[in-house]
Amino acid sequence: MSLLIVGSVAFDAIETPFGKTDKIIGGAASYIALAASNFTQNTKLVAVVGEDFPQEFIADLQSKGVSTEGLQIKKGEKSFFWSGKYHTDMNTRDTLVTELNVLADFDPIIPESYQDCEYLMLGNLTPKVQQTVIQRLKKRPKLIVMDTMNFWMEIALDDLKETLKMVDVLTINDEEARLLSGEYSLVKAAVKIQEMGPKYLIIKKGENGALLFSGKDVFFAPALPLEEVFDPTGAGDTFAGGFIGYLAKTGDISFENMKTAIIYGSAMASFCVEKFGTERLVNLKADEMQSRINVFRNLVKFNMASV
Ligand code: AMP
Repeated sequence: MSLLIVGSVAFDAIETPFGKTDKIIGGAASYIALAASNFTQNTKLVAVVGEDFPQEFIADLQSKGVSTEGLQIKKGEKSFFWSGKYHTDMNTRDTLVTELNVLADFDPIIPESYQDCEYLMLGNLTPKVQQTVIQRLKKRPKLIVMDTMNFWMEIALDDLKETLKMVDVLTINDEEARLLSGEYSLVKAAVKIQEMGPKYLIIKKGENGALLFSGKDVFFAPALPLEEVFDPTGAGDTFAGGFIGYLAKTGDISFENMKTAIIYGSAMASFCVEKFGTERLVNLKADEMQSRINVFRNLVKFNMASV
């Protein structure tokens, strides 16, 4: 089933305790599309880049079945640029630079051939732009998943709350859930955030896994314990791409199936952090994915002994 992905396609410069990169490919939608392409070949991208963006990466996406008809390339303009530096714990980072460039006045144009999409993934962007995308779709998708960040909670809370009323699933991290709800307990935060609109809430806790809430139902998926986390950039987006990619492949949006989707999302994220930027995802093989899913299965499998 077709999946529409909207978000940033960008240049990033990253510094971690393991090293430092110059400008490399990044952007929320890049990670989402690469992750989702492992599940469905019917993926469509809406984003904007400048003339400076490498054609090779666009070709990589196309070779993985991602339609780039909705990728605007702005002549004479520069792509979005973000730079971040991770602390020693790799769980926290400082944003060093955000140059909006082409994202400053991004008008998300939806090609006619994208109108049939049944799944919509709104990557981290201005809440107004996320809203515009939903409004421009003639038929509401079967499932709308949205990602956002603390930045929008601080500078565009009213717009964000309007957008939240229009989506089915929200993915945020634990710190953002606390900020948005004003509750320290994630269980209380989940109740408050669901009252804002999304029927499902996914709270990402980095190396401590992810929680899925819907009404009284809760599910927890661990993150894979890795010897080395090289670069966590894009892990949340990769998680979201695996999650919605799996749902789009199976066509089943029940809570039960979302549990499996979260495991697939976590498996994809575990690859993302192994190399800088998108490199690991671009070169990922199908058999590697399958064996990692098996590792996940063993990670949580146990016998129920009667006591
Ligand atoms: P994550 O590590 O999951 O938070 O995602 C990091 C990616 O988000 C990077 O590749 C950045 O290019 C992108 N990014 C950072 N800030 C923004 C922003 N304000 N709007 C859109 N994308 C962003």
